[in-house]
Amino acid sequence: MKTTQGGNTVKAVKLYEPGNLKVEQVDSPSIDSEEVLIQVKAVGICGSDIPRALVKGAYYQGLTLGHEFAGIIVECGQDTEGWKVGDRVTIAPLVPCMECDYCKIGKYGLCDNYNYYGSRTDGAMAKYIKVHKNNLLKLPDTVSYEAGAMVDPAANAVHGLWRGDLKPGDTVVVIGLGAIGLFAVQYAREMGAAEVIAIDVFEEKLQVAKLLGADRVINSKEADPIIELESTKVNLVLDTSGSPTAQNQAVSMTGKLGSVVFLGISNKELTLSAKSVDRLLRYEIGIRGSWNSFSDPFPGEEWSFTIECMAKGRIQTDPIVSHRFKIDETPDVFEKIKNKDIVFNKILIFPEE
Ligand SMILES: [Zn+2]
Ligand SMILES: [Zn+2]
Repeated sequence: MKTTQGGNTVKAVKLYEPGNLKVEQVDSPSIDSEEVLIQVKAVGICGSDIPRALVKGAYYQGLTLGHEFAGIIVECGQDTEGWKVGDRVTIAPLVPCMECDYCKIGKYGLCDNYNYYGSRTDGAMAKYIKVHKNNLLKLPDTVSYEAGAMVDPAANAVHGLWRGDLKPGDTVVVIGLGAIGLFAVQYAREMGAAEVIAIDVFEEKLQVAKLLGADRVINSKEADPIIELESTKVNLVLDTSGSPTAQNQAVSMTGKLGSVVFLGISNKELTLSAKSVDRLLRYEIGIRGSWNSFSDPFPGEEWSFTIECMAKGRIQTDPIVSHRFKIDETPDVFEKIKNKDIVFNKILIFPEE
C-alpha cells in the first residue's frame, strides 16, 4: 500500500559507524496492510541508545534511531482494525518471534529471534515511523506526548520491581536515579511500599527523587549506604546503576529473605565482598536479573499499569526530563554525551519543524 505521505521527504536521525550520526532527508515510510504511520511528537534518548550510537554502531548502516516515543496516527493500513487516524499512541518497541521457547511461555523479553524498533529496524527519531498494529498502545487524553515517550522506561521500572516481588509494606531501595530509577521510586510507592529509599552520587538527582516521593535519600559519594541502612530492614533493592560497587552494596544492604534485582546494564565483572557473600547465604537473599519490560499477553501488564498510573496523575514525568532538543541538534547531543559535556536525565527530541 502506498502511503499518502509518500513522495514527501522528511528528516530522520541516521546512524552509521559508532559516533557517526547524521540528520538526513529521507522518503516518508510506506506502510503495509498491518501497519500504521505515526507522526512522532516526542522521542526520548534511551540509555541503550548511547552505547548503540557511540560504541556498537548501527545494526545496519543508516538505521533510524529511537524507540521511546509518542505520536499521532496519520495513516492506517487496511488490516488495522481498532485503530484510526488521529489516535494518540506510543509503542512497545519489541517485535517478538512468537515461536521460540520463551515466546511460547510469554517471556517475550527473552525472545531468541526478535526485531526491535530503533535498533534492528527503523525507529522514531524522524518525522514519521511505520509500526505494526500489534505494537501500538493507546494514550489516554490525560497522558501527554512527552509522558507517552517515557512509558517505555517506566515499564522497565515496573518490570524490575515485579521481578523483585515487591509486596505492600515493603521497604524498597532504588540505586541509580536515571529515568528508570526515578520511575521505580514512584512505582514502588504506587505498589504499596511502606518506605522508599533512593541512592545516587548526584545531589541534583537525589533532590528530584525527594520531589517524586522518596522517603529518604542517600548520597553514596558522601556516606556509606551500608552503614546508613544498618538498622533498616530492606526487603528489595533495585539497582539501575549497573555499577559493580553498587551491586555489591545492594547485597550488603538487603535484609533477611530479601531480594536484589540487577537491572542496570554493567558489562563489567562483579566481585562480592566476603561480607556480602556471607550475608547472601545467611539471609537467604535472592539475586535476580531484570531485562526489558514484557510479559503475557504481549506487551504485558507492565505497559497497561504504567499508562494507567500516568493517566490517573499518580506518576510524574516532567521532573524526569532534563533537556529538550530539536531533531537537528541530535548529533551534537550525542557528541556532548560522549565528551561528558552534559549532565542529563531524560533527553527528549522533537522532530516537528
Ligand atoms: Zn529504551
Ligand atoms: Zn521468540
